[in-house]
Amino acid sequence: MRSALLILAFFCLHTASAQNIPTPKEHFGFNIGDDYQLANYTQTEAYFRRLAAASDRVHLVEIGGTEEGRPQLMLIVSSPKNIRQLAHFKTISQRLAHAEGLTDQQAHELAAQGKAVVWIDGGLHATETVGTHQLIETAYQLISRKDPETMRILDNVIILLTHCNPDGQELVSNWYMREPKPEKRSLDNLPRLYEKYAGHDNNRDFFMLNLKETQNIGRQLFIEWLPQIMYNHHQAGPAGSVLAGPPYRDPFNYVFDPLIITSIDAVGAAMNNRLNVEGKPGYTQRSGSVFSTWYNGGLRTTTYFHNIIGLLTEIIGSPTPTTVPLVPGRLIPSGATPNPVTPQPWHFRQSIDYSVSLNYAVLDYAMRNRDELLFNIYKMGMNSIQRGQKDNWTLSPRRIAAIGQMYKDSSRRPADEEGSDTIPARYYDSVLKNPALRDPRGYIIPADQPDRATAVRFINALIHTGIVVHQSTASFAVEGRTYPAGSFIVRTDQAFRPHVLDMFEPQDHPNDFQYPGGPPVPPYDAAGWTLAYQMGVSFDRVQNGFEGPFRRLPYGEEQHMPGTLVVKGSPQGFVLDSRANQSFAVVNDLLQAGI
Ligand SMILES: [Zn+2]
Repeated sequence: MRSALLILAFFCLHTASAQNIPTPKEHFGFNIGDDYQLANYTQTEAYFRRLAAASDRVHLVEIGGTEEGRPQLMLIVSSPKNIRQLAHFKTISQRLAHAEGLTDQQAHELAAQGKAVVWIDGGLHATETVGTHQLIETAYQLISRKDPETMRILDNVIILLTHCNPDGQELVSNWYMREPKPEKRSLDNLPRLYEKYAGHDNNRDFFMLNLKETQNIGRQLFIEWLPQIMYNHHQAGPAGSVLAGPPYRDPFNYVFDPLIITSIDAVGAAMNNRLNVEGKPGYTQRSGSVFSTWYNGGLRTTTYFHNIIGLLTEIIGSPTPTTVPLVPGRLIPSGATPNPVTPQPWHFRQSIDYSVSLNYAVLDYAMRNRDELLFNIYKMGMNSIQRGQKDNWTLSPRRIAAIGQMYKDSSRRPADEEGSDTIPARYYDSVLKNPALRDPRGYIIPADQPDRATAVRFINALIHTGIVVHQSTASFAVEGRTYPAGSFIVRTDQAFRPHVLDMFEPQDHPNDFQYPGGPPVPPYDAAGWTLAYQMGVSFDRVQNGFEGPFRRLPYGEEQHMPGTLVVKGSPQGFVLDSRANQSFAVVNDLLQAGI
């Protein structure tokens, strides 16, 4: 009897707390999306903590501190049952993404047991205020709603709601709200950068991970969770649209697994479709916007090189009401914009509603395709491992141009082949079976290089995005060259091979012209960025399989290079090697100390 009472009491308490989810209006004093109202980070952090305290659908994680010292938060949202087994589901997600040591059968079994993991973020670019506000509203809806779709999503998906720039939200919202008269509020003339060091280019730091925020995010994305889908919210949509979303225009990067491209198509179709079902026009895709998947280094784009389906939307909207302008060229329905939006006034809340719909479209897709998403990230990883274990040639514009050139130069070219797009198959073999043009099986970074500290820094950039690195425990020889102990080895037979190739090899951007002989089509972002080159790291490519006395470094663990100082007798001074970048840091420290 007594225990029955206790259980009853517990049940009542539990039910009471489950019903006690504070609404945004109760917490912030306004609805998310009300005209002229922005929440700052102090208020948002307090709200996220209240949601976590009130609901068993939430596990709150502080993923690290920001550059200005604020805690950066991630809300993990799922069913209460899943929340109690997060470690289990995280392990499944990791094992499938790494793909190592699994058979297809085992991968299918793990996929059947696992939950889809979906990352949704907001606020990276703090002046794009829809970002953080849709994150708040989405959290509230996922945690409070009880409709069948929400319940099915919670049962099947682990949702990582991640705040990308707390400092920026605090700055931007306080700046906007400083003006008491709503109609006078404006985001213009912000007094400083909304990320302490990088400002807007906080979205160009995702393979280098220099900023605290990107380090925090990178750890969750590439080491901890490896979500199968990540959705990165931005602004603004092209004039005359409501938003630009996936799929994106060409070119995509030639190191990707093709499943990345077709999976972006599939999720993009689900997003666009849902808006049309809900009567929300104005989604533009492919040639309808400038966004592509070529670049590595953005929050969204670095994920492609890790077999994660990265989504970007750029949506219109502002707390100060705006309008959808008349852009005649956008009004003819096309494959890029199947459902054009017509000119009209536009309120913040509409952008919030669109964003919640888009998030639900992605989550609904993940719920319906849970095991397929989990299996497919394994498949991409295993494809990469297998490509790195045998001779492989990446199809890219320079290689294809070389085939054409070889044919053109051939004196034995038969006349009847003139003017045809088809050329004899032997020209393919002369390039794409040429052993000298094979993709490398791995890279060796010798320990005996002038700026070893920079080489270690480069290796750490790889390790922080989940790349497997080995280190030699003794000297060894490969293809006639001897390397000392302590050299680093990065093999290409690993799940994130696309990222390895991209950090070591030059990017081969296509010749993208508006018409033959016309001006070039500008790439959306950088066209080339090979990190090993940019950092001046010495390395050797190895095109044949190789082994050696190699120790696998612990996954995700930063490497340190202890310095050495040899002093004999009483020194008259010290010599710093000017070939080492760190020498300049030391000199600056010494100067600042008055030396
Ligand atoms: Zn942005």
